[in-house]
Amino acid sequence: MKRVDDDKMLDAMTQSGALVALPQSRRLTVDPRLDTDRRYCRPWTARFLTDLAQAFYARFGAPLKVDSAVRTVQYQRHLLRVNGNAAPAEGEIRSPHLTGEAVDISKKGLTRSEIGWLRAYLLPLQSQGRLDVEEEFHQACFHISVYESYHPAGGGERVISVAQASTQTPAHPQARSHAPAPARRSRRRHHTTPLLATRLP
Ligand SMILES: [Zn+2]
Repeated sequence: MKRVDDDKMLDAMTQSGALVALPQSRRLTVDPRLDTDRRYCRPWTARFLTDLAQAFYARFGAPLKVDSAVRTVQYQRHLLRVNGNAAPAEGEIRSPHLTGEAVDISKKGLTRSEIGWLRAYLLPLQSQGRLDVEEEFHQACFHISVYESYHPAGGGERVISVAQASTQTPAHPQARSHAPAPARRSRRRHHTTPLLATRLP
């Protein structure tokens, strides 16, 4: 999956449709501190966000909030310089935010039952290899990398040339802990807490 190097490339990818705007609505808000030029993600990530926010709203009558979405390599280098305390998955130059596949959903202000519902919603999708979730206790968010396989091919949606170029195949859940496929290598992270892990006291 191609990384977004700089603002120029970001512009080109939003023009071509390789990146789309976050699907903001009354069900899905965006942290006002997030720069307007970083409120983009991959089309299948947007689809996932719409589905998630719709289900959450139907259950709780409240919106979810996106804290972070696409980042450029240029911006990530800046983050590394100014914030040595960034969680590893967030601070890495291999961060999936650099491809536009990853979004952070804020846990701030959510009740225990809302957070429990989110875990229960996300876990089966992770088991199916359609996305990867890390619960960032440090930053109080769900860091979610959505795979292209989330979005069924040929579903009548707009076809994206960059997406077509990808050779990624859906990950099999049972293969998750074994040798990663080449496409997954860029998503390696360190020292983060897997979903439902029990690191906290
Ligand atoms: Zn993140």
